[in-house]
Amino acid sequence: MRPLPLLEHRRAELETCVYCPKLCRAACPVSNAEPRESLTPWGKMSTVFLQARGGAPQDAEHSATAWACTGCHGCRERCDHRNEVAPTLLEARGAWFQRGLAPAAARSVVARHGEHQRALAAAIQALDPSPAPAATPLLLGCGYALHLAPEARDALVVARALVGPVRLVDRCCGLPLLLAGDIEGFQREVGALRALGPAPLVLDPGCALALRKAGLTPRLLIEEAAENLENFHTIGGAPEARYHDPCQLGRGLGVYEAPRALLGRVLGRPAGEFEGRRQGAACSGAGGLLPLTMPEVSGEIARARLREHDEVGGGEVVTACASSLRAFRKQGAQASDLITWLARALPG
Ligand code: SF4
Ligand code: SF4
Repeated sequence: MRPLPLLEHRRAELETCVYCPKLCRAACPVSNAEPRESLTPWGKMSTVFLQARGGAPQDAEHSATAWACTGCHGCRERCDHRNEVAPTLLEARGAWFQRGLAPAAARSVVARHGEHQRALAAAIQALDPSPAPAATPLLLGCGYALHLAPEARDALVVARALVGPVRLVDRCCGLPLLLAGDIEGFQREVGALRALGPAPLVLDPGCALALRKAGLTPRLLIEEAAENLENFHTIGGAPEARYHDPCQLGRGLGVYEAPRALLGRVLGRPAGEFEGRRQGAACSGAGGLLPLTMPEVSGEIARARLREHDEVGGGEVVTACASSLRAFRKQGAQASDLITWLARALPG
């Protein structure tokens, strides 16, 4: 790994893929949407491996394969070694970013992060103009705060019903920087969050996973809700609803039961299921910055998931992640967030 010493500690993961018969290839939403050998998990890991050893050019074209990943962890579930492809590709992004080889869309995320922070602070101020001072911090996630204001308000209502006064965190956790390859920038944001005080309650599972991996101990709002099921009543006459496991909540954090218990309680019956569910759930295409770096592929992944939904009866898709909710709605699907159902199911 002399040409790329940063990746030396990922040598085992890279070599495991390079010498593998590609048992996971059918799991990758990216290479399923755009069938190219170089976009399979094997192809992406092999490209990084060869670049790291000097056997492939360190140029923007080869480096871009590290961004052709939603971070869905689907390959790990099909792998006999449970090889950690997604985190290895994230570290490769970091190495290429440092060398100025990140795709333009990723560089733009980093360049505009200050603007992003200011927009977030303004959105949080609008959502909660008079925060209570000594309250539990609630981190919504930028996807909710900036783009899904009704769901963000629902989260405030649910959190206050469960834990009392909360105040919204007006900082980004830094996940977009991490996904763009700016690992130092991400660590700076985590440090700033840590300095704010106790670990927050978190709505978006992508933020929660990133913070946990960075050593913080955030608690998921829906886990808090699932421990207080009796707070929610059943909504009479609720329409057909099918639950989509968000990758970061399911395969990332291992949370499969809490959303099902909550939705079952609110609907008064078990929620509908996809054929691919829990560890085997298909991705929505919305993670890993793919909507920015490969928008066509990202859209096709969402459409494939929605075709699966239609084939088993259609109805409303319920998810618990801002990115997948936005991806499904962008394709015209009737989609909602679990937090909205929970807000509706509170007494009074
Ligand atoms: S993740 Fe596992 S199954 Fe997939 S290419 Fe790598 S080693 Fe093979
Ligand atoms: S984490 Fe998901 S998107 Fe990334 S290589 Fe594995 S299966 Fe493909």
